[in-house]
Amino acid sequence: MESRTEAGLIGPGSFVENKVFGWATFRPVRDREKCTMCLLCWFYCPEGTIVRISERGDLMTNYDYCKGCGVCANECPVDAIKMVRGKT
Ligand code: SF4
Ligand code: SF4
Repeated sequence: MESRTEAGLIGPGSFVENKVFGWATFRPVRDREKCTMCLLCWFYCPEGTIVRISERGDLMTNYDYCKGCGVCANECPVDAIKMVRGKT
């Protein structure tokens, strides 16, 4: 549950008002060939930055808000996400 503080929002999803591009050291890159669309990465991402593109039946990471924590890569059961050093 997010909460508003003097410093801004805190908690899951709080990065929707705090763009992180520029300081994230790593970014997740998904291998579409390996991905089984189980959606565990979408479920576990603490910032909600993995977006389902329903009309295309695909996932997209919004790097503007991804903090590069690697939770998605850690939870992927088929090792389809690699954390890559560098900016988008
Ligand atoms: S690296 Fe972290 S913030 Fe970025 S998409 Fe993966 S779980 Fe979400
Ligand atoms: S957790 Fe891995 S296999 Fe599942 S949707 Fe995400 S990238 Fe695809």
